[in-house]
Amino acid sequence: MPPDPQAARRATPHVALNPHTAAPGITRFTVPLAIDSPDHLHVHMLQTPDGPLLIDCGARGSEDALDAGLATLDARPSRVLITHGHIDHWGIATTLTDRVLAHPGTLSSLRFASHGPPARRPAGWPNTRELARAFGGFSELIAGVPEIDPIHDGDRLGDWEVLWTPGHDPGHICLYRASDGILLCGDLLLPGYTPNIQPALDGSDALDQFLTSLDRIAALPITLVLPAHGPPYSDAGRRANELKVHHIKRLDTLRHALRGGPRTLAELTTVTFTADHSQPADKMLAHMETYAHLEHLRQQRQANVDEHGTWSLT
Ligand SMILES: [Zn+2]
Ligand SMILES: [Zn+2]
Repeated sequence: MPPDPQAARRATPHVALNPHTAAPGITRFTVPLAIDSPDHLHVHMLQTPDGPLLIDCGARGSEDALDAGLATLDARPSRVLITHGHIDHWGIATTLTDRVLAHPGTLSSLRFASHGPPARRPAGWPNTRELARAFGGFSELIAGVPEIDPIHDGDRLGDWEVLWTPGHDPGHICLYRASDGILLCGDLLLPGYTPNIQPALDGSDALDQFLTSLDRIAALPITLVLPAHGPPYSDAGRRANELKVHHIKRLDTLRHALRGGPRTLAELTTVTFTADHSQPADKMLAHMETYAHLEHLRQQRQANVDEHGTWSLT
């Protein structure tokens, strides 16, 4: 979830600090984020046989609340696991430890945050110069870009299993504890927010990956979902279905618009997102989300894009 660079310059909002035991072996507390939405991040401390493990940590502006939360715990974590490559989840990780665990798929997001968008882009991809300008405020929220210790699908961290769930970010993972059905879902199954789909630069169909990730989670017996933003809840299958329906409707909207003739990404984004995006970062996120849906249609052989970035139905 890239931030709004204007908001990054505003005062950090206060979020009540509330360390509590969310379930056996899981301490959960909240840190503020210096962005508009979401304005907070829930971090989790897990007890594992290799010692305490912090899941996500926040960005610049989260430090005081994070320190206060960690001070209430018995032991300081020697490792941080980041659920994915968006900076609200790892911006200050290097100030805590040099052992940062993450899926290798996060590397493209870490590179984006440190070096800006790639110069080479697929046809129809959002304008690189506009992307760089819109997300230029990133650096203010980052203390350092971590080297990662790679973790992979199926790895175990004590009772917890790593589930690779790409789509919102190419390296997104969830942690699942089968013994009591608890899911740390990162940004995959957020309540109250619709996670944006981040187009993949390696030619993968990010929307297809996201829908597959939802199906995978919906098939698990889950008793409690602990999201990185928003309150805990229990009905993972219902939320997964809501998100699927949302994206299927968006695909229908795009197909309908393209029936009227070829359109550019900017034109199609005004169809899928009716809100007036006054912030450049919001506008670019809308462009990226729309691109991910168009790329899904292209890979399904329902749409084409020409060398000028104009989309049409096949
Ligand atoms: Zn995210
Ligand atoms: Zn997030």
